[in-house]
Amino acid sequence: MENVIIIGTGCAGLTAAVYAARANLSPLVLEGAQPGGQLTTTSEVENYPGFPEGVDGFELMDRMRKQAERFGARFEFATIEKVDFSGSVRKLYAGDKIYEARGIIIATGASPRLLGVPGESEMFGGKGVTTCATCDGAFYRDMDVVVVGGGDSACEEALFLTRFCSKVTLIHRRDTLRASQIMADRTLAHEKVHPVWDSVVEEILADESGQVRGVRIANRDSGERSEISCKGVFIAIGHIPNTAPFREFLEVDDLGYFVPEAGSAIRTRVPGVYAAGDCSDHVYRQAVTAAGLGCQAAIECERWLAEQE
Ligand code: NAP
Repeated sequence: MENVIIIGTGCAGLTAAVYAARANLSPLVLEGAQPGGQLTTTSEVENYPGFPEGVDGFELMDRMRKQAERFGARFEFATIEKVDFSGSVRKLYAGDKIYEARGIIIATGASPRLLGVPGESEMFGGKGVTTCATCDGAFYRDMDVVVVGGGDSACEEALFLTRFCSKVTLIHRRDTLRASQIMADRTLAHEKVHPVWDSVVEEILADESGQVRGVRIANRDSGERSEISCKGVFIAIGHIPNTAPFREFLEVDDLGYFVPEAGSAIRTRVPGVYAAGDCSDHVYRQAVTAAGLGCQAAIECERWLAEQE
């Protein structure tokens, strides 16, 4: 049986791995379908402290992984399909394999919801399609961009992009924003934000070099099609937290995010089981906040394990 199993290798999981490994817990870290997590889909990370020139997202995650390995973390590929937290030995099921541990840190992240239209996957990450204005906005200085969505995230992304971009077209499938009133008002009042209502993106268009050159949209009422030129497409239509296998045992909110115990950011209702990073945080969703939560989870897990002895 393992001391602690960490599920996920994004910022939260790898930071937890560094701390748990340095505490001599020899953690087993399970890597799922996207090793390194969401940061590996972005090109340059300019807001992670300690890298004044920025750092490639993939490289940052690779460095975290090596740091964890240096102190004794072990890695295995496994996608957890279900769990059993009913006994003192926590069980994780991945295909035919059953993992057993005393402590568990869940850092499975969240996946941005995507449109599923032609051009989206082809130009995702570095070619003009992205889901993170905080990560990629600065690359679109003095350019026209499109934001898709009508919630708080879309408004936040659109407002953030006004700092860099010449024009931000906000495409929403209805004629009112879902976002909170204050965010909606602020967004629509901004001179650089141009809303396009009742419209869906049907295709993201590429130039001859395979970079985004625009989007083709359709008006849902009239069916009329048109094109909007832009260099970047920011998709902000929500996230899907990767919490499904755990929901029988752990509390999640209406959106599917883990709900921590009162007074804690990472403790779940099952003792010794912690949740850290974007699977429980839909407010900040930053690499550095995820890392902080991973650190907290590892420290609490270490203390909890010590108490059990
Ligand atoms: P959200 O509130 O679920 O909004 C998603 C938006 O995307 C909606 O406007 C939705 O349209 C649209 N959408 C969904 N699927 C689509 C599709 N396939 N094609 C086109 N449009 C689609 O998600 P969110 O904005 O990420 O916010 C999630 C939660 O985090 C919310 O509770 C939000 O308040 C919170 N949040 C808060 C802040 C803040 O307080 N600063 C910032 C970000 C997020 P419909 O409106 O037609 O459904």
